[in-house]
Amino acid sequence: MADKRDYYEVLGISKGASEDEIKKAYKKMARKYHPDLNPDNKEAEEKFKEVNEAYEVLSDPNKKARYDQYGHAGVDPNFGAGGAGFDGSFDFGDLGDIFGNFFGGGFGGGRRTNPNAPQRGESIRLSLTISFEEAAFGCEKEVTVERMEQCGTCGGSGCAAGATPEVCPDCHGSGQVQVRRQTPMGVFATSSPCGRCGGKGKIIHQPCPDCRGTGAVRKRKTIKASVPAGIDNGQTISIRGQGHAGKNGGPAGDLLITITVRPHELFRREGTSVLCEAPITFAQAVLGAELEIPTIDGKVKYDLPEGTQSGTTFRLKGKGIPSINGRGRGDQYVTVYIETPRNLNKEQKEALKKFAETMGDNNYEERRKFFKKSKK
Ligand SMILES: [Zn+2]
Ligand SMILES: [Zn+2]
Repeated sequence: MADKRDYYEVLGISKGASEDEIKKAYKKMARKYHPDLNPDNKEAEEKFKEVNEAYEVLSDPNKKARYDQYGHAGVDPNFGAGGAGFDGSFDFGDLGDIFGNFFGGGFGGGRRTNPNAPQRGESIRLSLTISFEEAAFGCEKEVTVERMEQCGTCGGSGCAAGATPEVCPDCHGSGQVQVRRQTPMGVFATSSPCGRCGGKGKIIHQPCPDCRGTGAVRKRKTIKASVPAGIDNGQTISIRGQGHAGKNGGPAGDLLITITVRPHELFRREGTSVLCEAPITFAQAVLGAELEIPTIDGKVKYDLPEGTQSGTTFRLKGKGIPSINGRGRGDQYVTVYIETPRNLNKEQKEALKKFAETMGDNNYEERRKFFKKSKK
């Protein structure tokens, strides 16, 4: 406090200065020491803070009166919140909710982003539905996207041929201006997007006719998407650099395609396994048979052993889904069930009755065990 300079001295004005003179002096000094015009200059930064602090007090009639009477002690910054907006580090606690919208990042608080710095473009998300087999073996698909691309006419500058953008005189290219607000807590200085340039930091006087000064144009583009073998429902493939164009020379965003796999009539999938159920006849189950089983590679032969029970699952090795990392393939699991014949004619029924009479309980192991247990 002791080595604090006099606020009038800081602004280079006399004690009897009018409101207008204070304002003018402040503008002049603030411009002189503005951090954007004095990059990496610690001294200028300190001066800039000092200038703002002085103006904080001298622009407020109440504080000015207290300062004129008591000096620095009358406007101790620990009393009230004067000056807090400048370093952006003041803790507003609960007041943050009330004043939250005032604080879009303090002056020199390091939270400002240079509007002219390269910015990565936004990603585009879309979904693509493919068949069960396409997911299993991979496929090439074409997708159409609407995206912002750099304007070819102006090369993204937004300027007509031969013209160059002007650095915004209000914000000096930072895209941010200081806003001062009188609140019950005192005067707050915060930064907000510059109204003159719309936060862009530059002004285009002769805009490019094709993009109207935005530097980007909307285009419809058809893009080849390579879907890898083994992809599963809900997985996303990303195609680098096929999203929206970046700004100020930044890279384009990505194209993100989320895959939906259409259900298959016969097959289900669990990881790299293919599951299916196959009906067999009573005679096939009893006598055994050579079955033709559908797989994603086409039909394969399988020797059903004699006496196969309904619900038995067998495995077809290597007939599952290729692993997405390219290492091997899963298996197919086939569960057989016996389809009981319906609508037998008289002759067939007679034959079956005769057959049944020849069968003792010993031929039906499971059945015999079941009823033996139920007698207890
Ligand atoms: Zn253009
Ligand atoms: Zn501006």
